[in-house]
Amino acid sequence: MVTHTVAGSSMVPQSIPAFAARGYGFAEYIDARNWIGGRWSNPSTGRWLAIENPRHGKAMGQVALSGADDVDAAVAAAKAAFPGWRATPLKDRAQVMFRLKGLLETHMEELCWLLSHENGKTLAEAKGDIEKGIECIEFGCALPNLAQGAQLDVSRGVNCEVTHEPLGVCAGIVPFNFPIMVPLWMIPIVVTAGNCFILKPSEQVPYGAVRLAQLMKEAGLPDGVFQLVQGGREVVEALADHPGIEAIGFVGSTKVAKLLYARGAAAGKRMLCLGGAKNHLIVVPDADVEMTASNIVASSYGCAGQRCMASSVVVAVGPVQRIVDRVAELAKAIRLGEDMGSIINRGSVARIEGYIAEAEQHGATVLVDGRDAHVAGNPGFWVGPTVLDQVSPDMPAGCEEIFGPVLSIIRVATLDEAIAIQNNSVYGNGASIYTSSGAVAQYVAQRLEAGMCGVNVGVPVPREPFAFGGWKASKFGHGDITGMDGFHFWTRPRKVTTKWAPAEGGSWMS
Ligand code: NAD
Repeated sequence: MVTHTVAGSSMVPQSIPAFAARGYGFAEYIDARNWIGGRWSNPSTGRWLAIENPRHGKAMGQVALSGADDVDAAVAAAKAAFPGWRATPLKDRAQVMFRLKGLLETHMEELCWLLSHENGKTLAEAKGDIEKGIECIEFGCALPNLAQGAQLDVSRGVNCEVTHEPLGVCAGIVPFNFPIMVPLWMIPIVVTAGNCFILKPSEQVPYGAVRLAQLMKEAGLPDGVFQLVQGGREVVEALADHPGIEAIGFVGSTKVAKLLYARGAAAGKRMLCLGGAKNHLIVVPDADVEMTASNIVASSYGCAGQRCMASSVVVAVGPVQRIVDRVAELAKAIRLGEDMGSIINRGSVARIEGYIAEAEQHGATVLVDGRDAHVAGNPGFWVGPTVLDQVSPDMPAGCEEIFGPVLSIIRVATLDEAIAIQNNSVYGNGASIYTSSGAVAQYVAQRLEAGMCGVNVGVPVPREPFAFGGWKASKFGHGDITGMDGFHFWTRPRKVTTKWAPAEGGSWMS
């Protein structure tokens, strides 16, 4: 990580210009700062990190590397804003989300280009990122219709009611791969539920969150309700330890998810930490060749395989060679730089290519080789679509998360062997079965050890209101992160038991 220090400036620009690029050519943008108490500010540390456009390998600007003092300032501003925001009626809080949805739609083209530049994904993939985020905003807009409590006369003259109360100051920490969608898994629920929220974007892609902060201000969100503290590990640890923060949602790798879950819980916080994945697609001989092959290719190479729901293993059951051949053919036809974007950074390219080399050394066949890929005029970070055949489940490429455009094919003879391979994975995010038999589909779907399963679906992400979340080492904590599970995570139930006059002729607690 290359960091540098610049002199702190009291003249921090308070307006964010629109991102001007309308093509993949390199474009500079602003420095990504903290948004605290309704103002843009420099980090107290004076430290910054270059934000590299992965397609070009060149810095678009720099991001603040904040520290514990910046977290303190954000918590103080959030605490000050909380009483007023909690007292704002739910239906008025939801109106901010309605306006935010409209603003995202108005700025869609600009935001798509910005995301594509900071993350390296294609324009179409950037649009998908924002559209899925908007779906989550729609869920937040619906909370006035969903968030009612309950009440019941539990005895003569005695009534119990439950309401869902905000927690106070909450925080979210997000990964690089979906700069708008993943923050929007949390924001519309946590904020509409009446909390104040501090987001720590990925230091590799801070711009989506900068624009979200600006658009939320435009949508009428009061200062202090939503804040950004930019940076890396130092900020994450300060958030986990801060006594003023009640709950943290995290999305990222399993290594960090597990550590953070333990650290935040030890500090008495409510924690929900989503981790990495190794998603298996089981393919049997009666699967439709064209649909299956094209789904596998879209799932494995969309966003250059940098999706927690990407298919990274095909478990090929019996004679499915026609499907494997078609997958290889379609993978070879992908135009790098147009159909598939770049890899987030140089280190990731080395990691991904290392997995390919290691699998080859251990006897895997490289059907399609994406190593040393280049895109003319775009000298950034690239790996082409790669298909590895004859992978075994114990090779690193067969069991570890690669997080790149590499599909490993594991050959087995029976359906039960395929299910056992999926079940033995330490991860449990997504898994699918490809078949034209209802009975096979049901048999497999009922046995998959994953939170999000599919039948003939390559990326079985549940659509809202069906919530997002995996099992096993893909998630630490209880419940899912979106939908009503998200609402229950970011709120706490208050029960009120009431009695007035005794019923005539009755006793109090009869
Ligand atoms: P990452 O774990 O490296 O980073 C995630 C966040 O944690 C970032 O904000 C980063 O600044 C911070 N961080 C990194 N290292 C840290 C450390 N040592 N201590 C404290 N904080 C740290 O993940 P990434 O590379 O940004 O994203 C890719 C990973 O995220 C993959 O493993 C992918 O599967 C996972 N992911 C999971 C889901 C899901 O829903 N389960 C969704 C998207 C991405």
